[in-house]
This record gives sequence, C-alpha cells and structure tokens, in this order.
Amino acid sequence: MSETKTALVIGGGIAGIEAALKIGQSGYKVLLVEVAESLGGVLEKLYNSYPRYENPADLIKYKVEQLNECPNITVMTQTKVISADQKPNSYLVKLQNKSEAKEVEVDAVVIATGSQMLDVTSHGEYGYGHYDNVVNSLEFEEILKEWATNKDKVTPPKTVAFFKCVGSRDRSKGYPYCSKICCMYTAKQAGVVKEMFPDTKCYVFYMDYRAAGREYEEFVRSVIEDKKVKYVRGRPAKVLPEDGRLLIRAEDTLRGMPIEVTADMVVLAAALEPSAGTKEMSNIFPVKTDKYGFIDYETNEVMKTGERIYYAGACSFAVESLGAMHQGGAAAAQVLALFNQEN
Ligand SMILES: Cc1cc2nc3c(=O)[nH]c(=O)nc-3n(C[C@H](O)[C@H](O)[C@H](O)COP(=O)(O)OP(=O)(O)OC[C@H]3O[C@@H](n4cnc5c(N)ncnc54)[C@H](O)[C@@H]3O)c2cc1C
Ligand code: SF4
Repeated sequence: MSETKTALVIGGGIAGIEAALKIGQSGYKVLLVEVAESLGGVLEKLYNSYPRYENPADLIKYKVEQLNECPNITVMTQTKVISADQKPNSYLVKLQNKSEAKEVEVDAVVIATGSQMLDVTSHGEYGYGHYDNVVNSLEFEEILKEWATNKDKVTPPKTVAFFKCVGSRDRSKGYPYCSKICCMYTAKQAGVVKEMFPDTKCYVFYMDYRAAGREYEEFVRSVIEDKKVKYVRGRPAKVLPEDGRLLIRAEDTLRGMPIEVTADMVVLAAALEPSAGTKEMSNIFPVKTDKYGFIDYETNEVMKTGERIYYAGACSFAVESLGAMHQGGAAAAQVLALFNQEN
C-alpha cells in the first residue's frame, strides 16, 4: 500500500473531473481514467447549456486547466478498467490503454461513467435510422454547432419539430421513468434555433413539461412567449417522408383534433439509460444497481454504492450538469472523510 492514499476516478465528464479535482487539491493522489481521447464527456458535445445559455466547453477548459496544475492528479485517456480485485482496504485494478496493461492499487473508487441515449430505431414510426433528417437530441447539438459555425452558408430550415418523451414514460417500448432533463434541453434547443433563424418555425410535441429547478420555469416560459416556439400537447403517431421533408401526424390533445406538420428536421429527445461503461463498471466492482442498471445508492450514505466505492453524475440517473458537478464534489467529500479517518 502506498503511503499517500490514492483514489481512482473512472470517467472524465464533469462529475469525474470535479471529484478528481477536490480529492487531488486536498493532498491525496488521484488517477483519473477516461475511455475517450479527451475529457469533458457529454458537455464537450453540447452547443450551449440551459438555463443560462453558457458554453459548457468553457467550463471544461477551466476545469482541465486546474487538473493540469494539480501535481497529485494523473490523467489517463483512452484507458479502461478491465478488472478489479477487492483487498481488505483497497482494490487491485487492471487498466488497459491502447498499448499496455497496467496494475494499480487504489484505496477508494469513484464511478462517474455517465449515461447514454436510448437507441430509438426501436421507435420505427419516427424513422430514426431511416431518414437522415430525423436525429436524436445529442446529434442535434452537433448540428447546432455546425449551423453556428457556418451560419452564412446554411439555408435555414423552414420548420424543426421536437418530440419529447421518446422512450421515456413509455412502458411498451422504452422505460417507465421520466428522463428528467429532456424538457429543459428541448426548450433550449428550440430557443437556440429561433435565435439563429428567427423565421424558422419550431414545434415541440409534448405529453408534459417539467421545469422544476432554479430559473427553469422562467427559461421555458421565455422560449414559449419571447422566442415564439409552439408547444403542441400530444404524442406524434407517425413521421412520413414527403418530397425530402417530413410529414408529422399527431393529435393535439388539448384541442382534441388531429394535426399535421411538415418539417425539415425532427429531433427526438430519447430516453437516457446507463452508459455501456456504467454497465461494465457494475460488473467489475461490487456496487449496487437499480433494475435499469443505473448505479444505486446506499441508504443513509452520500454518493456511496459499495465498500470504498462512490459514484457521481449521470451514471446514477439523468442529471443536469450543475447537479453532476455537485455530486462529484459530494463523492470527493466522502472519499476525503474516509482517507482522513484512516490517516
Ligand atoms: C442532448 C443533451 C443535452 C443536454 N443539455 C444540457 C444543458 O443544456 N444543461 C445542462 O445542465 N445539462 C445538459 N445535459 C446534461 C449533461 O450533459 C450532463 O449533466 C453531464 O454530461 C453529466 O456529466 P457526467 O460526468 O455524469 O457524465 P458524462 O458527461 O456522460 O461523462 C461520463 C464520462 O465517462 C466516460 N466513460 C464511460 N465509460 C467509461 C469507462 N468504462 N472507463 C472510463 N471512462 C468511461 C465517458 O467517455 C465520459 O467522458 C444534456 C444532456 C444531453 C444528453
Ligand atoms: S423530462 Fe420531460 S421530455 Fe423528458 S421524459 Fe420527462 S416529461 Fe418527458
């Protein structure tokens, strides 16, 4: 066992970064492993973020600078945990990167491996995987980035339609739970389109809208009232191709009548489920999971899921970025309490 205790943080999104920073800046050693080429997770992929239209890449850049400045933190990208042996007060962990395998002994683990979007080819009626202009919300963030970069060259779409609750709150083809953040990011995306292209019509098809959070209700209201995004209550039944565009058939359940909208693009707010990495980690480490595979918590403990194992962020359920960052800090506090007790 090394003299200075070491924490292994798995996943370099905002939750893992924050956990690593707080532990490292408190004087303990941290090994942060990230499977991708760079840090940042989903936030790196976003055009901007609700509720303040901030650029999440700026946050990641700032945090990565802090990581680089902290001598206690080692970052390994393109690296995965492939096995772990539990010892009395530690874990012997095997890591694999592109060229080599390496074994390390760590005194605590923080899992921060995030979530992923449900593959909605299962919802064949919406044409995802068949029509290029039907995309999921994460793919749409990339499109927003492209539109912003090449604004002068882009032909503005006449109409963009957003479908909420795709695979969420859906017992037949998806998950029964609400994915919590899609009402907010859908409002954001529709609002961004209106800002970029004021003449583009934006429709949001919804069953409910959930905006519980600081500044959230005001945010969605401003998208509806100031940016003139049209909210239609009803789950669309079908998307059909029509002269290169998309014909949407739905029922407006508030007015009790069928509605047809022709759109240039359909954006599906697909359910969030545990990422492949989260599932892998729950097979490697003795952790608790719920019936969907999200990391579960130990009752009466903060961010704890197993012996010397803590978690943070979207690996345990859909969460907005501020919440993920707070959870990273809370998981770090638990690791620090454990290490301080044993010193
Ligand atoms: C479409 C969309 C729009 C959003 N818009 C907003 C918004 O406007 N505002 C907002 O506050 N939030 C928004 N969010 C939510 C935000 O993205 C999350 O809160 C945040 O990304 C959660 O951070 P995280 O670190 O928990 O997970 P992630 O960002 O998913 O990071 C997890 C990291 O773990 C890594 N990893 C996975 N498996 C392994 C493994 N086995 N080994 C090593 N590393 C691994 C991944 O590569 C990734 O880097 C949005 C989410 C989506 C999907
Ligand atoms: S957050 Fe909104 S869009 Fe997402 S599942 Fe819940 S109600 Fe549906």
